[in-house]
Amino acid sequence: MRKKNKADMYLDVTALHEEVTGSCILCTVRYPDRSKTQFIVDCGLFQEEKYQAQNYNFPFEPKDIAFALITHTHIDHIGRIPKLCKEGFNGKIYTSTLAGELMPIALTNTAEILSSSIQKNSKKKVIIDSSVPIFDSTKPLYDVDDVQNAMSQVVGLEYNTSFKVDEHISVRLFKNGHTLGACSILVTIKYRGQEPIYAFFTGDYNTHNTFFNVESIPQDVLDLPINLVTESTYGNTKKDIIKPVFDNLVIESMKNDETLIILVFAFGRMQEIKNRLKMLQDTGKLSKDIRIFSDGNLAHSYDDFYKLNAEHLNVKNFMPANVEIVQGYEHRNTILTDRKPKIILTTSGMGNYGPAQIYLPNYISRPKCTIIFGGYTAENTLGRKLQDVTPGELFELNGVMTYKRAKVYTTTEFSSHAKQDELLDLMRKFSNLKTVLVNHGDADVKKIFAKKITEEINPKHVAILGPNHTMRVGAYGLLKSYPFNP
Ligand SMILES: [Zn+2]
Ligand SMILES: [Zn+2]
Repeated sequence: MRKKNKADMYLDVTALHEEVTGSCILCTVRYPDRSKTQFIVDCGLFQEEKYQAQNYNFPFEPKDIAFALITHTHIDHIGRIPKLCKEGFNGKIYTSTLAGELMPIALTNTAEILSSSIQKNSKKKVIIDSSVPIFDSTKPLYDVDDVQNAMSQVVGLEYNTSFKVDEHISVRLFKNGHTLGACSILVTIKYRGQEPIYAFFTGDYNTHNTFFNVESIPQDVLDLPINLVTESTYGNTKKDIIKPVFDNLVIESMKNDETLIILVFAFGRMQEIKNRLKMLQDTGKLSKDIRIFSDGNLAHSYDDFYKLNAEHLNVKNFMPANVEIVQGYEHRNTILTDRKPKIILTTSGMGNYGPAQIYLPNYISRPKCTIIFGGYTAENTLGRKLQDVTPGELFELNGVMTYKRAKVYTTTEFSSHAKQDELLDLMRKFSNLKTVLVNHGDADVKKIFAKKITEEINPKHVAILGPNHTMRVGAYGLLKSYPFNP
């Protein structure tokens, strides 16, 4: 008879991404009989230039992964699923029912972008970095057929209902305000004669959402001995530092008879900003006579998804009056020559994809124009470039010399991530927190936040996740950290 030993069962956790892109957490459950089960939480695409090469390799065998858990449908969390399936992963992909329905919208669009950027590259005869061994410039990472195949492995789960994935592991999803369909996930691992291991993955996390209510995590979960994997995107930002400016910028711009361009992410942000404009109209702060142009096919697919699911949402109608869907090239041209005051909502949020690529170079030199970025813009994006140029300065854009005469603003007031104080509040609710593993943040932010958690929450252990080391946790918290060697 085996002697009961509390250190016999472990969960090894490695974040395969350094910062906030290409999210994928590799988890390996090691059982007392020396068998193991591997699963992943999210499987994102690296969108930032400097990490691009990592899209072509997984530091594990896809066929060895038993199942995948998906927290939400942003591309930096799901963008490599079709690639994973193509390379031999044939387990189930568990996520919320809504996220399961949203996934094909996001991934089909990504497959199309991947194909078109390959075509663009080959026309330009771009020399591909030869240090990327599996890179094949004639073939995209995956195509629309690969997306379809992968989607047959998706299983949508109800929120707050425990689901047994295999003999030892069960998962329970909790609604999370980050996006429609987003979830935090509790993983419970049980084995005869062992204390259970509980791991709670916040996913990208928010406490609230304009479109639905977020219930608090049930008390029975809050009382468990938890190993918490928390996101930390805003781990160094307090909530009250973010001042709302959007409404005033809209009002001011329309008062000055300008063209107002608002850059939006297709999923969530387009709908939220439309709702905000509707509120401005409904309160008489924005005239319903002002034309609002909406441009971006993917965003309109999400608009339709929100409308279809309106019965489950708090906001039944988010569409302002006088919205015109932009119907392609000709229509866009008439907008560009129109001098009347108007609002243009366009994708992509960072300005480097979609119709934004047409509007921004056209309007940046016009003084009667305000441009608002409705969210974060990464380095090396058109959005970041336009913000960094000094107002009035002459600069080069797509090879053309241009003056920056439009007013350019960014607001983070629509951010879908919890801030430092909100994340700490979440941690305070857990009555028996064993370990906090800090994930999904810029390297310096993760360190600052880890320090803050130690000072304010003081769980047994606080550690920082990253691709170079694995954290081994057991029923009683962190056991050790060791180098990750794929
Ligand atoms: Zn996200
Ligand atoms: Zn994320």
